[in-house]
Amino acid sequence: MEEWQKLLAEGINTPAQLVKEFPHLDEQMVKAISENFRVRINKYWLDLAKQSGAPLLKQILPDERELREDVGSGCADDPLNEEAQSPIPNLTHRYPDRVLFLISHQCAFYCRYCTRKRKVSDAEQINRSNQTAAIEYIRSHPEIRDVILSGGDPLMLRDEELESIVSRIRAIPHVEIIRIGTRMPCALPQRITEKFCTTLKKYHPIFMMVHFNHPDEVTPEAKEAMERLSDHGFPTMNQAVLLKGVNDDPEVLKKLFHKLLMARCRPYYLYQADLTKGTNYFRTTTEKGLEIMRALRGWTSGLAIPHYVIDAPGGGGKVPLLPRYVLRRTAKETVVRNYRGDVYRYAEVQEGCEDMLPAMAAAAGADAAAGPEAAVPGALPVRSRMTVTKLNGNGKHRVNGTNGTNGTNGAHGAHGTNGTNGSHGANGTNGTNGAHKTKHVNGSAGHGTAPAPLTAFDLAAAKRLT
Ligand code: SF4
Repeated sequence: MEEWQKLLAEGINTPAQLVKEFPHLDEQMVKAISENFRVRINKYWLDLAKQSGAPLLKQILPDERELREDVGSGCADDPLNEEAQSPIPNLTHRYPDRVLFLISHQCAFYCRYCTRKRKVSDAEQINRSNQTAAIEYIRSHPEIRDVILSGGDPLMLRDEELESIVSRIRAIPHVEIIRIGTRMPCALPQRITEKFCTTLKKYHPIFMMVHFNHPDEVTPEAKEAMERLSDHGFPTMNQAVLLKGVNDDPEVLKKLFHKLLMARCRPYYLYQADLTKGTNYFRTTTEKGLEIMRALRGWTSGLAIPHYVIDAPGGGGKVPLLPRYVLRRTAKETVVRNYRGDVYRYAEVQEGCEDMLPAMAAAAGADAAAGPEAAVPGALPVRSRMTVTKLNGNGKHRVNGTNGTNGTNGAHGAHGTNGTNGSHGANGTNGTNGAHKTKHVNGSAGHGTAPAPLTAFDLAAAKRLT
C-alpha cells in the first residue's frame, strides 16, 4: 500500500468515526446526511484541519443545514444542468470544443459544498460502465480538442487505471489538451508521487486543475507536490471557490494566491458558489466577490488574480464578473477607472484619421498652448489617438455636463450617477452637444447593459468625472 492509500485508510470513513473524533456532532444527523453524500476525511487533512481551525473544518464537517430545502434559494440537485447536456452518462458536452468526462466517484475527502454531490461518493453514479462509449464519443467528434477529466477525483484511481483512460484519449488525433481536475495536491499531496508523474507525463500536454481555497492548505507537503508536478511538465492552475466563513476576505485570498504562485501554481478561477441543494450556507453575495476582486486588482500582480466567474445556473457556462472599470464608452472615447478610483479617458481610433495626422498634431499643439480649458472636447479625437488622459486630480480636462443633466459642452453629458459601463448621456438625460444626443434612460441603451446599482466606489469615481 502506498503512503497516500494508508492515509486514506487511517482517516475518517464512517459517521461513527466522525462523531468519535468530533463529539459535538449529532450522530443521527451525520448518518442522515451521509446517506446522500458520504463523509470522508483522510488522516493528512484531518490533522491539518484540526490544527488550522474553522475555515478548513467548515469545508469537511457535515452541517444540519445540508438537509434543509432552502425554499426560494434557487438551489437544485444539478444546478449546472450537466445531466441534460450529457450525450453519454458522465460525459458533458456543453462548450463547442471541449468535454467534461467524469471518471471517478471518490475523493480524498468530501467537500460539503460540492457541486456534484448528487453523484460524487456514489459508485452507482460514476463508474466504468460508460467509459468506452464516452471515449468513442470523443473520437467521433473532431471538434473536441480539450478533454477535462474530473469526478470525484481522477487521482483516486490507481496510476494504471488512470493511464489506461488517458492513453486512449491521447491516441485520438484531434484531442490537443487533456486537463485533470483534482484536489489531491491540496487534499492528499502524498498522492503526487514520482511514479504518478512519470506515468502520466508521457501523454502531455496535461494540465492539472487543482483546488485550494485557503492559504493554510498550501502546506510544505502541498508545495512539494505542486513543484513535482511542475518539474514533470504539468502546468498547475488553481480553481478556488468563494465560500462564506472560509475565504470571503480579500486578505485571505491574496495570501492564498501569493502562496500558490510561490508553488508555481497560477490562480485561474475564483468561482461564485453554485446553487447546489444543501450548500446554501456557503454562499456569499456577488457584491462580496466583486469587492474582493477590487481589493486585488492593481494592489497585487496580475499573475495573482484569477478570473471571478459564475457558472451560469441551468448550464449557461462560465460568465466572468468584473468590477466596474469602464465608466463610459462612445465611438470617440472610453472612460475608465483605475484600481485607485482615478478616472482616465482613452480616445478611440477614428476611421480615416491617418490622412489628418499632421493637422491633428498641429491642432493638439495649439490646444496645449491655449491652456487646459481649450483642450477638452473639440480637439479630443485629434490629440488623443495615442494617449490616455487622466481626467480627475489635475483639473486639466474638465468635462461638462454634470450629474446626468444636459451635457453642455460636447462630451456626452458626462454624468456622475447611473448608467455606467459604456453608455452615454446616462441617467435619462441628453448630452446636447456631443455625437450622442440620443436619450438614454438609466444607461440601458447605447453600448452597455442595464447597470447594476452603484456602489460607493462607483459614486466616488463618477464624482471625479464632473
Ligand atoms: S474534491 Fe471536488 S469533486 Fe470531490 S467533493 Fe470536493 S469539490 Fe466535490
